[in-house]
Amino acid sequence: MILLSGPCAAESRDQVLLTAQRLSEALSSIPSLGAMDNLDFVFRAGVWKPRSQPGYFEGAGIPALSWLQEVQETMGIPVATEVASAEHVELVLKHGIHHLWLGARTTTNPFLVSEIAGALTSYADQLTVYVKNPMSPDLNLWKGAIQRVSDVIGIRHVVAVHRGFSTGQATNLRNNPCWAIVSLLKRHYPDLPILMDASHMSGQRALIPSLCQQAVNLKYGGWMLESHFAPDLALSDANQQLLPEDVKDMLTHLNFRILPDELGLAPFRAEIDELDETIWQLIAQRMQVSSRIGEYKQAHGLPVLQEQRYDDLLQHRLEWARQNEISESLVHSIMDAIHSESCRRQQ
Ligand code: PEP
Ligand code: MN
Repeated sequence: MILLSGPCAAESRDQVLLTAQRLSEALSSIPSLGAMDNLDFVFRAGVWKPRSQPGYFEGAGIPALSWLQEVQETMGIPVATEVASAEHVELVLKHGIHHLWLGARTTTNPFLVSEIAGALTSYADQLTVYVKNPMSPDLNLWKGAIQRVSDVIGIRHVVAVHRGFSTGQATNLRNNPCWAIVSLLKRHYPDLPILMDASHMSGQRALIPSLCQQAVNLKYGGWMLESHFAPDLALSDANQQLLPEDVKDMLTHLNFRILPDELGLAPFRAEIDELDETIWQLIAQRMQVSSRIGEYKQAHGLPVLQEQRYDDLLQHRLEWARQNEISESLVHSIMDAIHSESCRRQQ
């Protein structure tokens, strides 16, 4: 399994060296269990940070490359950073860094990906390139970026990183997993290792362990986990960074002994969980609208139950159900339950 861990951003020489040291010590004491026998640890830190809005910490830039180089040379730990242009690639390679990742905002842009791929050629046989999924839930963009990097002649390793998508749907995660997209990616590239970036997917510490377990269940090749010697002081993504020792504890609590029969079901279960979560979020939204309607009815002296409206609504839902081969009785059970709860809220 591969573990990319380290801070969201390289903030100072001390922060980089201390976090790397603490991670290295914590991970060296991991008891060997199952698939963890061979844990390949790569220290990560963003040197240039893509921020959605201006005015936030954008990374320490070029000086941070020397701090990463120091980790690599003095501690013997390979290091990784994000590249978002051909110029970044050149600078990173000049500092002897051979693990590079393309962030979600870069994978979204085929021009940039081609430009970066072009800059990888000189050291291709020494490079491991991690390709994050794009911001939007678009399988072809992710596949396209992976393909452009894989086409670089002699490239050593290409690894996909699943960090979730911006879908606009309300979920308790920062980014929506859209598991179905990963199943399709796996079908297209059966041998491509996929890492779970539980930090950017969750956006909050408490949700990281279950995503990491999900990654084990789905036979991912490892994890990307942001960590910091003092997470609350982090200049970016503070809520999702773990203490180095907590990275170790979390990994040692994962269950690798899953029955082979259960493993086959894991991708379907992940999809069902995601769909159910969407259903519940939508029901909650619908109930909120119902309550607003209730307030309006009350203010205007209108009755709670308006039979004609419910009959019309039911006819439409039955028509949609017929088009999707869903039984009438299911429509009645679901709509009656939703409607009676709406009426209850409006009383
Ligand atoms: C990161 O890994 O630091 C990062 C910016 O991630 P993403 O591209 O997934 O947002
Ligand atoms: Mn981050």
